[in-house]
Amino acid sequence: MDDKLMLMIPGPTPVPEQVLLALAKHPIGHRSGDFAKIMAEVTDGLKWLHQTQNDVLILASSGTGAMEAGIINFLSAGDRVLVGCNGKFGERWAQVCQAYGIAAEVVSAEWGKPLDPEQFRSLLEADTEKQIKAVIVTHSETSTGVLNDLQTINHAVKAHGKALIIVDAVTSLGATNVPIDEWGLDVVASGSQKGFMLPPGLGFVAVSPKAWEAYATATLPRFYLDLGKYRKEAAKNSHPFTPPVNMFFALQVALKMMQQEGLESIFARHRRQMNATRAAMQALGLPLFAADQAASPAITAVAPVDVDAEQIRSIVRKRFDIAMAGGQDHLKGKIFRVGHLGFVSDRDILTAVGALEAALQELNYEVTAGAGVAAAAKVLTQ
Ligand SMILES: *Cc1c(COP(=O)(O)O)cnc(C)c1O
Repeated sequence: MDDKLMLMIPGPTPVPEQVLLALAKHPIGHRSGDFAKIMAEVTDGLKWLHQTQNDVLILASSGTGAMEAGIINFLSAGDRVLVGCNGKFGERWAQVCQAYGIAAEVVSAEWGKPLDPEQFRSLLEADTEKQIKAVIVTHSETSTGVLNDLQTINHAVKAHGKALIIVDAVTSLGATNVPIDEWGLDVVASGSQKGFMLPPGLGFVAVSPKAWEAYATATLPRFYLDLGKYRKEAAKNSHPFTPPVNMFFALQVALKMMQQEGLESIFARHRRQMNATRAAMQALGLPLFAADQAASPAITAVAPVDVDAEQIRSIVRKRFDIAMAGGQDHLKGKIFRVGHLGFVSDRDILTAVGALEAALQELNYEVTAGAGVAAAAKVLTQ
């Protein structure tokens, strides 16, 4: 059936109709007073969402562009950094460092397990000469559905005193608490197509005063992603280049919706939907890839036994028009991932679980009909 696709992948995520309608408006000039008003409003809204007084800069890029900006503006070739690596995105940040000649030391954990804060603590404590310039952590590791313990890792960074904490919050911002000022997070990157209820196209970077100090002496080449340019223009409610103005209309609407719902309610909704999804999988006998204590509120990864993850996905997609994500790299065919990030309602969870049950039946997998939906419903109505 046309036009019935339901996105249950961890980005792009579903977009509300009022946001889509904002995109359909005529573009306006980015040097106009009208644009300046929007820029002022969305900057305020972003600070609210990021729980910060720091600068929050808006780039025309995907999340990777925001992260790359978050690295190249504050570091120099040869700098020693620690990169947490327990999935595809952790690996990506190590690759970005490598591309720029930054000496990245990988602190790894098995895919599906959280990073061990203790490893960061001991490396940081041993660094008495304060050579470690930054610690880079993927908060919610989308490839495995693991939420890393950013708060505890950050304690070790703060005890070190010198290193910056650079965070990939692409699937945690707008899904779970990321209190930038309270925790003292220096650089926090995210992207519009994840928790923001927007299509892909904008990247966001929050920058602390301490990170700006590092910016002043960082020597990697930068031009389009030079955050100093964005800061200078943002102070005048402007933008250094031609921004995707329609995405700014959409951002304005999406932020208003989020403010109406309230941060606590947004986080509670993601937690509830995570719990419902996980309860459903357990009721269906489908093993969860991440443990309860390390589960991401944005995405649930499932590792089915005796039934093929790709076949499940294919049936759910073809018969029910629901897109779920597969596994990446060595997890391809081994897991499937259900996104519950952004504009996802409780109804969507029940629908996805129901479709999953039907797919399992079609694959002759032993399942008590309705067990998953019942378990999810129980959590959702608690
Ligand atoms: C989606 C995502 C990104 C950014 O990916 P883009 O495709 O560049 O937007 C980065 N980190 C995580 C954890 C993500 O989920």
